Amino acid sequence: MVAWPLLRLLCELEDARAQLDVLATRDELTGVYNRRQFLVLADREFARCRRYDMSAALLMIDVDLFKQVNDVHGHLAGDLLLREIARAAGDTLRQPDLFGRFGGEEFAVFLPHGDPLGALDAAERIRDRVAKLSLEWKGRTVHTTVSVGVAALDVAHDSLAALIQDADQALYAAKDAGRNCVRGVPPPAQRRGETSSAVL
Ligand code: GH3
Ligand code: MG
Ligand code: MG
Repeated sequence: MVAWPLLRLLCELEDARAQLDVLATRDELTGVYNRRQFLVLADREFARCRRYDMSAALLMIDVDLFKQVNDVHGHLAGDLLLREIARAAGDTLRQPDLFGRFGGEEFAVFLPHGDPLGALDAAERIRDRVAKLSLEWKGRTVHTTVSVGVAALDVAHDSLAALIQDADQALYAAKDAGRNCVRGVPPPAQRRGETSSAVL
């Protein structure tokens, strides 16, 4: 039989291990996966989707004109808004979807089984939810929007990095189009004029 002090010590160690796990894998501000953990998990899913020839898609989300939010309302208001944006975007996702903070005001979503049209829908749901979001701060309303780039997995994507690069390119297109919108890039095979089931 295990003595009580030993049992308590084991419980404390388990708590400490769980806390360390959260610190290592989660973004402190928003609670979503941090960039490193997102990449670890997305890479695993990417490999699985490639191996079994399943569809998948990646969304890159960037908060629009976020520097202005900080400049006008202060960094603390910006932090709170980022947290609300992460919560709103996360609420639109399904259980197997991976959601991470990729950089300062940039988030990424990996959608396993996400076909191109479904991925565009998912991106649009996120854009719409954030556009409806507002925060009351010191008697003023803080509001912003997001731009989303979508890339659907294609035979020509030989790595997660290649998929991310395409989603990034689509994100630039969304910014160029005036922000607060979703853009997708045609998959590489389609760009080379080959047959592809993707329709972005
Ligand atoms: P764009 O629509 O072109 O993306 O414009 P932007 O202002 O969002 O882009 P820019 O890259 O010029 O500025 C990003 C800003 O995001 C600057 C930086 O201070 C802010 N930011 C990044 N991380 C955080 C954070 O954790 N908290 C707060 N409050 N601000 C952050
Ligand atoms: Mg950015
Ligand atoms: Mg931005």
